[in-house]
Amino acid sequence: MEYVSPEGLRLDGRRPMEMRQIRAEIGAVSRADGSAIFEMGNTKVVAAVYGPREVQNRSQQMSDQALVKNNFFLIKLLCILCLGSIRCEYSMANFSTGDRKRKPKGDRRSTEISMVIRQTMEACIMTHLMPRSQIDIYVQVLQADGGTRSACINAATLALSDAGIPMCDLVTSCSAGYLNSTPLLDLNYVEDSAGGPDVTVGILPKLNKVTLLQMDSKLPIDILENVMQLATEGCKAVANYIREILLENTKQLEYRRGV
Ligand code: UDP
Repeated sequence: MEYVSPEGLRLDGRRPMEMRQIRAEIGAVSRADGSAIFEMGNTKVVAAVYGPREVQNRSQQMSDQALVKNNFFLIKLLCILCLGSIRCEYSMANFSTGDRKRKPKGDRRSTEISMVIRQTMEACIMTHLMPRSQIDIYVQVLQADGGTRSACINAATLALSDAGIPMCDLVTSCSAGYLNSTPLLDLNYVEDSAGGPDVTVGILPKLNKVTLLQMDSKLPIDILENVMQLATEGCKAVANYIREILLENTKQLEYRRGV
């Protein structure tokens, strides 16, 4: 199938290096400590953050004796006491895809994406400033059209900022692929399901570091750098947009407080 026309246009009319339209909104869930909606084209997700709050962990409730017997729990508890803990749950609403999704969470894919998002967010949250506390990040896909994990990471970054969680940088994410011998930025579902490679990158833009790199399918080695570079540029564009949204939100808060 032809994913890039002879005129250099993709099926949805974008150029190869063009991202889908992004849109974000802070404070979508009033009961959460921080929340945000993030859209990348037709992919739409919501993130809600609770915390930092006191650790609610079963291992904390174990007796000291049981903890000493079980080194794993002891190490885990020490980490939580010193660094705090971050939990993340990714799910897809059962109306988020064309076919009704029977198992919106708890399947292998959701478990893996939850872990990937948690590890990515851990790279920027300054947990050492919040010992004995836990932060819960819930991300739910409302509409899925490719790139949901990237959209969830971007939404989580905004929600964490909204909750006032200290972070060393703003993690942002974007994907890129390679179809018809052309590197393509920010794949939608049709492009994603074409069977080509899908490289998802997460960066810490201010620190200039990569914190997430995932790929499926296969890609010629000499092309990998190009595709990664393209995804990184996408992450930087998202970072600029997120900064604008946060600035605008701060201005509105100041205005409401009459500062
Ligand atoms: N998808 C779907 N049903 C599912 C899982 C995925 O329709 O149960 C679609 C959805 O549009 C998603 C895309 O497949 O965005 C690609 O999924 P993938 O696992 O590659 O993760 P993503 O690109 O969303 O991060």
